[in-house]
Amino acid sequence: MLILVINCGSSSAKYELFDVEKETTPCRGIVERIGEDFSVLKHETAGKDRIRKEVACPDHQTAIEIIKDVLTDEGGGVLSDVSEVKGVGHRVVHGGEEFNESVRINDAVLESVEKFSELAPLHNPPSLEGIRGCMKIFEGVPQVAVFDTAFHQSMSKEVFCYGIPYGFYEKYGIRKYGFHGTSHRYVSEKAAELLGRPLEELNAITVHLGNGCSIAAVAGGKSVDTSMGFTPLEGLLMGTRSGDIDPAVVTFLMQREGLSVEEMNDLLNKKSGLLGVSGVSNDMRDILKAIAGGNERAKLAYDIFEYRIKKYIGSYAAVLGKVDAVVFTAGIGENMPQLKDSLERQLRPLLGSETKFLIIGTNEELLIAKDTYGIVKGT
Ligand code: AMP
Repeated sequence: MLILVINCGSSSAKYELFDVEKETTPCRGIVERIGEDFSVLKHETAGKDRIRKEVACPDHQTAIEIIKDVLTDEGGGVLSDVSEVKGVGHRVVHGGEEFNESVRINDAVLESVEKFSELAPLHNPPSLEGIRGCMKIFEGVPQVAVFDTAFHQSMSKEVFCYGIPYGFYEKYGIRKYGFHGTSHRYVSEKAAELLGRPLEELNAITVHLGNGCSIAAVAGGKSVDTSMGFTPLEGLLMGTRSGDIDPAVVTFLMQREGLSVEEMNDLLNKKSGLLGVSGVSNDMRDILKAIAGGNERAKLAYDIFEYRIKKYIGSYAAVLGKVDAVVFTAGIGENMPQLKDSLERQLRPLLGSETKFLIIGTNEELLIAKDTYGIVKGT
């Protein structure tokens, strides 16, 4: 059964086609620079040359049409007709408190995704556009929403409530939601599989280190705490995001530097993190090169990055009581065994000899495809 997975970001639309039963991916690609003068389609079909071409793509609905065209192209498309796709799975960043699992999309779900756009203004609107585009083009095909927040809905109230007047939780939904849920869920399930242990009995700390970074404490397959919060800004140091900070710094800087709300938001989300501390780059590969060249600020940025991860693993060990596995994933986590080894050396005395330190490649798209398949088969 063919399942199409769509992941719409603010200016891109990634797609991947899965044959879930055969466990193959016939093709995948991305439409980039949506809304700019020249958008780009990159497309890869198993066993064929890659395609890269400029396309006109003013919005995400058009991106879906471009994706349909390349999938059904008479020359090299893998489909002879769109009806061969039996389900479309969409990554949706924010599902608020309404969704603790993946759901088939109907009008009520669309309304909720729209409502939570207030909490994820950069992420939910493009997802909605992608969903609407697919509902038109893949008419009658079940559409499924897989939320980044859903996996963390199992956190208890003392974990997700902030120490601010309770009325703001009720009025605006201000609380910890957590993100990267699909990745934390995928690698915790994979860790159980790799270690040959029932998921229900496994305590894992999952460390997702990409452009965005987050860490989760997962007990018996359920998230009990995670480092990202109301937005993806809280927690670890990231490429351009500050992570944890004394909130008084925000008001101090706004006052002293005369910064507007937008400017402050921009500073914390786009100008901080590895980039802000090092002054070099948000990309870990550039940071490592700069360190090798003797750049001290790049070294400081790296040291903050590693220290925060250690501190969070230590606190989640306290939360879980016993830790069976610490799992590293995503761009940095999967490609820097030296970081895993260094943290293993430092944390071994705390965690004991039973804890396994693992690197596991994440595959959010595969989990979205499997969830979609499960929902389609059940209908
Ligand atoms: P992601 O968001 O998962 O694509 O991860 C992006 C991050 O992974 C960037 O900071 C990259 O610099 C980093 N990354 C990718 N490859 C490597 C590598 N070989 N060594 C260190 N970092 C890497």
